[in-house]
Amino acid sequence: MTRIYNFSAGPSTIAESVLKQAQSELLEWNDCGASVMEISHRSKAFVDFAEQTEQRLRSLLKIPDNYQVLFLQGGATTQFAMVPMNLLGDKQSAVYCCTGAWSQKAIKEAKLFCDVSIATDSDTDQYVDIAEQGQWTIDTEAAYLHYTDNETIHGVEFDYLPDSKGLPLVSDMSSNMLSRPVDVSRFGVIYAGAQKNMGGAGITVVIVRDDLIGKVIPKTPSMLNYSMHAKQGSMFNTPPTWSWYILGLVLEWIEAQGGVEQVAINNQLKSEKLYNAIDASDFYRNLVHPDARSRMNVPFLLADSALESVFLEQAGKAELDGLKGHRAVGGLRASIYNAMPLAGVNQLIDFMGEFERTHG
Ligand code: PMP
Repeated sequence: MTRIYNFSAGPSTIAESVLKQAQSELLEWNDCGASVMEISHRSKAFVDFAEQTEQRLRSLLKIPDNYQVLFLQGGATTQFAMVPMNLLGDKQSAVYCCTGAWSQKAIKEAKLFCDVSIATDSDTDQYVDIAEQGQWTIDTEAAYLHYTDNETIHGVEFDYLPDSKGLPLVSDMSSNMLSRPVDVSRFGVIYAGAQKNMGGAGITVVIVRDDLIGKVIPKTPSMLNYSMHAKQGSMFNTPPTWSWYILGLVLEWIEAQGGVEQVAINNQLKSEKLYNAIDASDFYRNLVHPDARSRMNVPFLLADSALESVFLEQAGKAELDGLKGHRAVGGLRASIYNAMPLAGVNQLIDFMGEFERTHG
């Protein structure tokens, strides 16, 4: 068996120890005589595990008691609609920051429900920077302010927590959840799909402040109502038990790494090494402003784009995979989430150096 270094943007690499544990428990989990996939989500064993998982997340992110933690389906994309449906109340508008492709998608969906006013739009500089807060326009009559903490496609990440001028702050943290500590008490809602830093696809974590629950717009389907999920411990219908289980194992793994604080130090080191290697060469380029560079997704271009396919082919042979840039922006991209070891980043840097020597 060969396990490659997998730089895919998501679904993405999972720590080997997590996969091994899942493998060893596949036929029988928790003395149940059956796999975790085969037992009722309402069984004591699963309910206990679900509660432990929530507690682990609460303790890793220091989530205050006045927040609900929901484990939902439909990916972050469903949250693009659920956020306005649940938070608009009797307001007619919401404020969005447009910092890349994922903000654009969130904005498009919100426009189905309300007027969207844009606080800042980085489109003018092709999403390579995030404007200073002083340059933003925030309509303080709106229902909430939404931003994307890390833009997975453009490789742009906030290095500060926006001041929402009293509006509930809503953040899509799909691609940097649990990659660094975050002051949850500053937020109204945080949401993230699991398939980058929290395990496999199929489960979405939503952290929502109590006072924002229970204001859904009329005719909201029950499945899209935070209140229904909050009341029923995220078991309003059959939850994705396998994805929930993997998420629980990943949280245990983060604890064993030393928690989110230590993981953040590792992420800083890995991303700095990679950006330094890119900046030290004329052969590779990353166009993002240094203050807005993502620690999770590192897009880069080759001086000669015709070499991209050769790069990808040879990287594959060197057991480095998932490096193709998103189809919307092209180029190359290395996603280096929590579970990517420093050794993987070092191997990529060595490969890039060798590729430059032979093709530069
Ligand atoms: N937001 C961000 C920042 C993402 O990276 C993604 C997925 N790549 C999404 C939202 C959409 O997530 P999903 O496919 O789970 O709906």
